[in-house]
Amino acid sequence: MNDQDSVAWVRARLKQARKVFVLTGAGISAESGIPTFRGPEGYWKNYSPQQLASPEGFARDPKLVWEWYNHRRRVIAGCEPNAAHRAVAEIERRAGQFLLCTQNVDGLHQRAGSRCVVEIHGSIWRTRPAAGGGAPFEDRTIYDEDQLPVRAPDGALLRPDVVWFGEALPADAYARVDAFLTSGPVDVAFVIGTSAVFPYIVRWAAIPRHQGALVVEINPAPSLPENIAAVRFAAKAGDILPQLL
Ligand code: NAD
Repeated sequence: MNDQDSVAWVRARLKQARKVFVLTGAGISAESGIPTFRGPEGYWKNYSPQQLASPEGFARDPKLVWEWYNHRRRVIAGCEPNAAHRAVAEIERRAGQFLLCTQNVDGLHQRAGSRCVVEIHGSIWRTRPAAGGGAPFEDRTIYDEDQLPVRAPDGALLRPDVVWFGEALPADAYARVDAFLTSGPVDVAFVIGTSAVFPYIVRWAAIPRHQGALVVEINPAPSLPENIAAVRFAAKAGDILPQLL
């Protein structure tokens, strides 16, 4: 099947779908100008994940880690949602039951109008105490790079409320995705712009497949195991998603 036939097929299935699940990764924000992690333009070409996105890296050099998050906050603040984010929001508006699980921390889905969103890796726009389990709070500050961000009353060191390598996923977010997927079959599932390196991402794509859903992958370099996606668009999300509506 060529891409045009696949577009027509997915569009027809989507029109009839009662329950839709969407899983996204950094690739959906690439066309907004936010670098992905992996790949030729990705962050990990120039930086080490252990240094910048692990609890050990933060313990070793919190200033360096905050410098990186300040830089990313600045980049993301200057970016706008793209056609793919807007199409996902429109799919939600048309669907009966819907859940979007994103690995992105940038908040662009919400800015495009998505409402039922699980941020499985946290948000770059929240901060929390680095130790002691204090509550996260919304935070859009670009901090002065000479000073470490600390909580006002007690001087507790703060950290971004994102999931670093080696850390557990937020239990409530994980449970929300699982509950959605196990509370009745999904009709259409999209896996968009993720290298699908994490086993839970592959699992969340495989569950709808086993339920009989049409699983659609959109990625210039498709990454899901071949038996999961029935349709693979080896293309940019912003080129394909608007055509499906
Ligand atoms: P990744 O960098 O591992 O993979 C990105 C994927 O997107 C690749 O497979 C690539 O082929 C694909 N891609 C590139 N351009 C695309 C486009 N225009 N349309 C569709 N797909 C495209 O990213 P990942 O799988 O999300 O890795 C997981 C980690 O990346 C997560 O922890 C996430 O928090 C983090 N991350 C988030 C952001 C963000 O919030 N925007 C940015 C970088 C990394």
